[in-house]
Amino acid sequence: MAEIIDGKKISAEIREELKVKVLELQNKYGDVPGLAVVLVGDDPASAVYVRMKGKGCEEIGIRSFQYILPETTTEDELMALIDELNKDSKVSGILVQLPLPKHISEKAIINAIDPIKDVDGFHPINVGKVVADEDDCFYPCTPLGCQILINRYVKNLKGKHLVVVGRSSIVGKPVANMMMQKNDRANCIVTVCHTAAPDISLYTRQADILVVAAGRANTVTGNMVKDGVVVIDVGVNRIADPSDPSKTIIVGDVDFKSVEPKASAITPVPGGVGPMTIAMLLSNTVRAFELQRKK
Ligand code: NAP
Repeated sequence: MAEIIDGKKISAEIREELKVKVLELQNKYGDVPGLAVVLVGDDPASAVYVRMKGKGCEEIGIRSFQYILPETTTEDELMALIDELNKDSKVSGILVQLPLPKHISEKAIINAIDPIKDVDGFHPINVGKVVADEDDCFYPCTPLGCQILINRYVKNLKGKHLVVVGRSSIVGKPVANMMMQKNDRANCIVTVCHTAAPDISLYTRQADILVVAAGRANTVTGNMVKDGVVVIDVGVNRIADPSDPSKTIIVGDVDFKSVEPKASAITPVPGGVGPMTIAMLLSNTVRAFELQRKK
């Protein structure tokens, strides 16, 4: 039986630590970190994420600024807001909730955020610093959450074979870049596979640690992993509930039922990687506040 990697519990511990840190910063600087979250349009899922981020800030004493803009907002108007937030010393971190409406270029908006306030870690400067092994950057939230979970469950990562399924810029690629870095949090041998592979099990079966970010339920099943693997399931998929098709349930990308008996540790979905993502956003915001004072 695998150990269940409890992302909910670990993220709660991290939030408690951050709460203490924010108080220390308040005492030292007479000010607290601030996070600006920008939402354009009325996508209900995005609205829920934005609310959760605001609540997460309030719980640990970070100042939260929320900008809910109409779907008709132009790219120029959004650029003007980003420019304002870049200059505002009360704003330590800026997060633009993706996806943006089609008439706004996500690339242009991300590139306009000051890299030292880019707490999502998507600006090319921060992406490049991760690749170049420079530490004064922001690691993107979900990959950073995965790395922390891996570090809690695998001691001595040096030389472990970590296989990533998926190569998106948000999850797969940054996880790979982070986990191959030469430091104690990583130092893995990394393989990345994706849809160009005729059979991903050739790779997944070799994994000591398997990170799955494919966005499809049942991408990895029990016959595709070796005994003792540590599994980090990033996927979030809403499917019909097999026991009551009139309802839906959330599952990951990994078939938990067949993989769990072979794994030494595995994240559940929900309750694994998901809760870590917001905790990492809060952590990056605190880090932004500190980096801006070291400049
Ligand atoms: P994405 O942009 O759709 O990328 C999926 C990647 O997986 C692509 O590289 C794709 O390959 C690959 N892929 C898809 N099906 C595959 C298969 N059958 N075999 C091998 N590779 C396959 O998705 P994403 O943004 O990385 O997100 C992945 C999942 O994580 C989604 O379910 C998303 O909802 C979830 N997610 C969760 C969190 C969280 O906080 N928990 C955060 C972010 C994302 P190609 O490049 O060849 O198309």
